[in-house]
Amino acid sequence: MTAARYIGRFAPSPTGPLHFGSLVAAVASWLDARAAGGRWHLRIEDVDAPRTVPGAEDAILRTLEALGLAWDGPVVRQRDRAARYAEALEKLRAGGLAYRCRCSRREIADSGVHGIDGIVYPGTCRHAAIPADAPAATRFLAPAGEVAFDDRVQGRVSQRLADDVGDFVVHRRDGLFAYQLAVVVDDADLGVTDVVRGADLLDSTPRQVALQRALGLPTPRYLHFPVATHGGEKLSKQTLAPAVDAAEGLAALRAALAFLGQPVPPAGAPEALLAAAARQWEPARIPRGRARELAPGGAGAYPRGL
Ligand SMILES: [Zn+2]
Repeated sequence: MTAARYIGRFAPSPTGPLHFGSLVAAVASWLDARAAGGRWHLRIEDVDAPRTVPGAEDAILRTLEALGLAWDGPVVRQRDRAARYAEALEKLRAGGLAYRCRCSRREIADSGVHGIDGIVYPGTCRHAAIPADAPAATRFLAPAGEVAFDDRVQGRVSQRLADDVGDFVVHRRDGLFAYQLAVVVDDADLGVTDVVRGADLLDSTPRQVALQRALGLPTPRYLHFPVATHGGEKLSKQTLAPAVDAAEGLAALRAALAFLGQPVPPAGAPEALLAAAARQWEPARIPRGRARELAPGGAGAYPRGL
């Protein structure tokens, strides 16, 4: 059997400019795709519209261009794709794999069982008859048994979704589609064969695998690299991680390579540096573990202000 051609993607949320943590995701996914002679798509994950920051998408695109991280095809935006998510939701409902839930946050919290990602929903509404016009969320019926996959960096990952997570929301009461459903539909529509992203999403992956199976979609290969932390906190807009300065693009790219455990080619233009890095790309060199602290002055120390 011939392996499917490699199709990868980078999927930033437009909640702020590109910071070092998201740059590492862009560089790792770009290198893995280019080293395989594959395609690399750019998807703006703005399904959670209220969190979108005006101007952030433009800033991300401009920074990627300045750093030589060229993408293939048109930019995909989740805000244009609600009809596809609705189709998937309907398929789950029609198959008896999703149901409507009217529980308040408080009611769920009072059930009191903590799981891998917050409170485990106790299934209160599983057999409730909720009128179609009543405001309600829709939950996916978590399958019994284990959901497991082999991550290229983290190894075997296994969860018992029903116990560890519970039936999870795929369509929110406010009408927005949940990230877990959107990302599964998006990856399938793009034909993504390889997902390369930070290990902060490792615990979400079994939910996505379960949704792929329920929807009859293929499961891509996964590579979760450790996320960059500073003082134990993941770099993010919330932790005030500084934006990657395109004027210092080479330094940023070199720091990202070092962070990923890769040899850093001699400086050149960003395009030349990336091309050389793609030729030397070895995922086996990526440090295992879910997080990696940015040591001041050490490997991956960037930006200097940290
Ligand atoms: Zn409920």
